[in-house]
Amino acid sequence: MRFDHLLFGRTEFPDGAEYRQFQHRFACVLVVFSTSVTALFIIAALTGSAHLHPHYLWSGAAYCVLNAVALALLRAKPERLPVIATICMTASFLLEAVAFFSNAEDEMRIVWFALSIPAVYLLVGTWYGLFLTGVSIIFIFAANPLLPTPYSANAIITMAVAIGYISAFFFAFSSKSISFHHAMVLANQKLADQAAKDPLTGLYNARAYYALCESALKQAQRSQAPFAMMFVDLDHFKRINDTYGHEAGDTVLRTVANALRMGVRQSDFIGRIGGEEFSALLPDTDIEGAVALAEKLRQDIENLMPDIGEKRLAITASIGVAAAKAHSESIAKIQSQADQAMYVAKREGRNRVTCIA
Ligand code: GH3
Ligand code: MG
Ligand code: MG
Repeated sequence: MRFDHLLFGRTEFPDGAEYRQFQHRFACVLVVFSTSVTALFIIAALTGSAHLHPHYLWSGAAYCVLNAVALALLRAKPERLPVIATICMTASFLLEAVAFFSNAEDEMRIVWFALSIPAVYLLVGTWYGLFLTGVSIIFIFAANPLLPTPYSANAIITMAVAIGYISAFFFAFSSKSISFHHAMVLANQKLADQAAKDPLTGLYNARAYYALCESALKQAQRSQAPFAMMFVDLDHFKRINDTYGHEAGDTVLRTVANALRMGVRQSDFIGRIGGEEFSALLPDTDIEGAVALAEKLRQDIENLMPDIGEKRLAITASIGVAAAKAHSESIAKIQSQADQAMYVAKREGRNRVTCIA
């Protein structure tokens, strides 16, 4: 078993969830680290190498048990992080408070209050970070006079400033880094989206379309569901360009792309795979359903009659349909059958739907 699976569990994070992955891993490591340190203190006290108050030993043992449960609940379950991190960070503060009261021999114990603040900001968030900062500062001022050997006023003020300082730093850092990360994720998504789309029609380009087809095929193979493909080629499109100009041709392509987009289901994909050629992948659709849809789209295209300047242009398309007969068939094979069907439609006079049964 891989070491990271042992510590974090088998957790897959999607692209864009890197910050959540960091938080999950950081929380797991922090829980293991703080439990180990506390356990070492307890062992040192039990073997006589350190003098720690029994109150601290019992609280430390309870803290270790709580952390062990937290790790078990957190492994592979990142959605539990907000609650578990809030409980663990509160428990850390309580253990620091017990040490503050009871381990009088350790003059440096007050430092622990500052050390857990960054983790609160990174794991729980800015509001809880500010809250625990305030609670820690108020606590050290209020509890100090009750200690058998109180810290000097200078020491308490220095510590309060140190806690405030580290808190201000992580307040600014954590809110900025999250918004920066979020902006990066959005920019990456936009770039990936642009790289997958044909700029003229907004449909998938050939590369992205075939990649989607491959994953849809795998999905269909898993679920043993039928699926079909449709190949749409506009009729005599060259004439439109030649007669009315390239701009008019582009308008026609955009209009047809829109009609195709509106005419299919949400779960279908459409790509512009050539100049005036479109392909649609229809998951969970058998050959009869695909032919009926193709016929409806053919009529939609015929009825478009887009405005080109003064004129309304008649456009028609020839559509070839093919369906996967066995789940072992490849996308290339089904696409080529839809292609052949489309050429039959052209030969038989265009403006029609043909299928290879
Ligand atoms: P058929 O009915 O046999 O399909 O004839 P067709 O004229 O539609 O087919 P052909 O393959 O001869 O011509 C396709 C034309 O599509 C040629 C090309 O100039 C045009 N075309 C390809 N890409 C674009 C584009 O992005 N914009 C415009 N306006 N035209 C394009
Ligand atoms: Mg063509
Ligand atoms: Mg054509």
